Amino acid sequence: MSEAAEIGGILLKWYDANARALPWRAPPRANWRADPYHVWLSEIMLQQTTVAAVKPYFEAFISRWPTVAALAAAADEDVMAAWAGLGYYARARNLLTCARVVAESGFPGDEAGLLALPGIGPYTAAAIAAIAYGAPAVVVDGNIERVMARLFDERTALPAVKPALRARAAALTPKLRAGDHAQALMDLGATICIPRAPRCGGCPLQATCAAFKAGSAAALPKRLPKKPKPTRQGIAYFARRTDGYVLLETRPPKGLLGGMLGLVGSDWSEGAAKFDPPFAADWQRHPEEIRHVFTHFHLRLTLYMAKVKAANPRAGCFQPAPAPNDLPSIMRKAYEAGCGE
Ligand code: SF4
Repeated sequence: MSEAAEIGGILLKWYDANARALPWRAPPRANWRADPYHVWLSEIMLQQTTVAAVKPYFEAFISRWPTVAALAAAADEDVMAAWAGLGYYARARNLLTCARVVAESGFPGDEAGLLALPGIGPYTAAAIAAIAYGAPAVVVDGNIERVMARLFDERTALPAVKPALRARAAALTPKLRAGDHAQALMDLGATICIPRAPRCGGCPLQATCAAFKAGSAAALPKRLPKKPKPTRQGIAYFARRTDGYVLLETRPPKGLLGGMLGLVGSDWSEGAAKFDPPFAADWQRHPEEIRHVFTHFHLRLTLYMAKVKAANPRAGCFQPAPAPNDLPSIMRKAYEAGCGE
């Protein structure tokens, strides 16, 4: 038996007994396919986020919009509000655009067709093709890269080693049960072959793992040192009327937090921020900066606050106080800081 067939067989046997029960999954079984809508929605939600964080959002979306056609017919602002808190809001906008294309023509069953849809990259296309359609697509995300680097003791640092890791994953991908194979690798990476301290003692692949034999597992995959993140600055205005209405604006559809609700304020850039108040008032500066960490930068927001009876703002409009989940994390922090003063 080839090494690939041996590893694949062990993995599927382990998966049949140990698969995580996830709300978007079909149970592990030959010829039992998951719903492409569920796979697609969960994979988009899972980008840059944990399974634990995604579960309640996935369940809320599926109960409110049980089919891709129902999601396609939803109002943009309802979907953006339901997404609030999951982060990376461009994904929610792409989700809707994609749902509207798919509602017309259905999900394509092949990787190339899936890849052509808005917001679907190579990983997601491969995952949907394998998990929902059983295609022998090569599914490679960060977890699977880590497992490959260790199984084959690949010591070149990321990102240069990526093509080699992909080739390793391709060589292991079976023609049958490719979806279960991919999910088995995902589960192994999430529960056993975890970052920093892999649980090799409970790993079904220990006997065939080159890094385990070499004692290098915890140090793999190697990474080049990260560049420090830049710090951007911004100004935001928290204004509350005596009737409890709050000044808010819907951000432009493109760009960071596009289409989300937020406080009125400046762009965020590395120089000093400038943005004139939205109306004349006795604006008080919050004693502390509001800080937030995005993937590519740190943000320091200077918050100005005012209470007024009435005002005609040049930006945004007064609205009833939002529910915490209606605001993305940074805006929620700024809003709560304003409310607390
Ligand atoms: Fe990962 Fe350890 Fe299993 Fe190798 S033996 S695949 S390093 S958990």
